[in-house]
Amino acid sequence: MHLDFQFKNQDKVWNIHEEGTPYLSFRALDETGIFPNAFSTRLGGVSEGYLSSMNLTFQKEEEEPEHVLENYRRISEAAGFSLEKMVLSHQTHTTNVREATEADFGKGILRPRDYESVDGLVTNVPGLTLVTFYADCVPLYFADPEKRAIGLSHSGWRGTVGGMGAVTLKKLRELYGSDPERVICCIGPSICRDCFEVGPEVAEAFREVFPEEHHRELIYGPYQSRTGEEKYRIDLWRANELVLLSAGVRKEHIHVTNICTRCNPELLWSHRLLGTRRGNLAAFLSIKDENRRI
Ligand SMILES: [Zn+2]
Repeated sequence: MHLDFQFKNQDKVWNIHEEGTPYLSFRALDETGIFPNAFSTRLGGVSEGYLSSMNLTFQKEEEEPEHVLENYRRISEAAGFSLEKMVLSHQTHTTNVREATEADFGKGILRPRDYESVDGLVTNVPGLTLVTFYADCVPLYFADPEKRAIGLSHSGWRGTVGGMGAVTLKKLRELYGSDPERVICCIGPSICRDCFEVGPEVAEAFREVFPEEHHRELIYGPYQSRTGEEKYRIDLWRANELVLLSAGVRKEHIHVTNICTRCNPELLWSHRLLGTRRGNLAAFLSIKDENRRI
């Protein structure tokens, strides 16, 4: 399968896996050799109709749970994750980050979750795979090679304004002693600044939280929409990068997507484009289990 993405810049952020079930992975994480990671596409699954074909959420009435499970099986096999050791988030646009342990294996996929409103997950358990969901919002990947700890967080505009990146780093430090200076951070496929049009209230929320010196690069506008409304555009990628930088992450450890969900409708799910008639993409991150039998 050939994945022909519309890239904003031609650079070397990705490994693009086209054999079998397609997915993306971050080169910076792959190069460590210890952090298996993936971001799904809308291709290579068995879901039908408007969910065709790689939908990774069970929360759709029209969806067959068996189809979603098969989609997970396929991407797990392709990217080397254990289905039994996955732990899924329960996203409600909060900045709540939860630690996942062995006791959580399979929650959200093979058995019910006993938690809710969890938009970020962290762990230091090898083999445990963190899973979060997307259709334009920003995925944040965190990997500390020294302490062998990871985090995966959902950062939409509310999460970005709430400093989700900094909250996740704080949790990694508290639980595992991770120094932000050593953490590798990846900002995953999500809506680009040209596609992310918002009203004045959202622009104002960004103005309140981010220092004035950054307003120009984060907030474009105002301009008039076709219907005469006051609109702005927000650069969520840069905003999340600024959150990470101010939390102590080194610039050279931050890897930013150049793939937009809304610019690639054939390959990725976009809420802006499709509304609720769409599937979900998922981000996956784990720590290599050295003791796992092949
Ligand atoms: Zn775009």
